[in-house]
Amino acid sequence: MKALCVSDLPLILETSTTNTRNLKKHKIESYLEVYDSVTELPDSIQQLINKAQQAREKAYAPYSHFKVGAALLLENGEVVSGSNQENAAFPSGLCAERVAVFHAGATYPDVAVSAIALTVRSLQKEIDKPTPPCGACRQVLAEYEIKQQSPISVYFMGEIGKVVKAASVSDLLPLIFDSSFLR
Ligand SMILES: [Zn+2]
Repeated sequence: MKALCVSDLPLILETSTTNTRNLKKHKIESYLEVYDSVTELPDSIQQLINKAQQAREKAYAPYSHFKVGAALLLENGEVVSGSNQENAAFPSGLCAERVAVFHAGATYPDVAVSAIALTVRSLQKEIDKPTPPCGACRQVLAEYEIKQQSPISVYFMGEIGKVVKAASVSDLLPLIFDSSFLR
């Protein structure tokens, strides 16, 4: 498995004939599964979401009041969780997803991640909109997906309501910048 790179783009889908510069357009498609509730998911994923909910309550979010919990299911059956950790010097804080995946990478460096579940809770309002990982976390998760050469399923939700599944991080982050550009 390899994330899509610019050099891997499929054949030109459309070519403008009216533009003298021969404008080339590429169409990128991603596939997401949407579940109406947690109960529609397999037991193992419901348990993973439950772990993410538990982790979420340990978040340190005195500034945003927006708590995020992440739980990773590893190939060896272990679950590693994380929550967002904020700081008065705002950029010094870290998202729940990266807290969890860096912990997993440091503790089980040779064990692949099968799935990650994410859930959020705001102290200001109830969130029923599935909340995806931020761009920086997508980039980090994609690196681990490439490193382990197998997809990481991403399940994300709000506090309640629908759950969205991406079968691979590459569905959330096409055109990833990866190490191939450094060589
Ligand atoms: Zn993030």
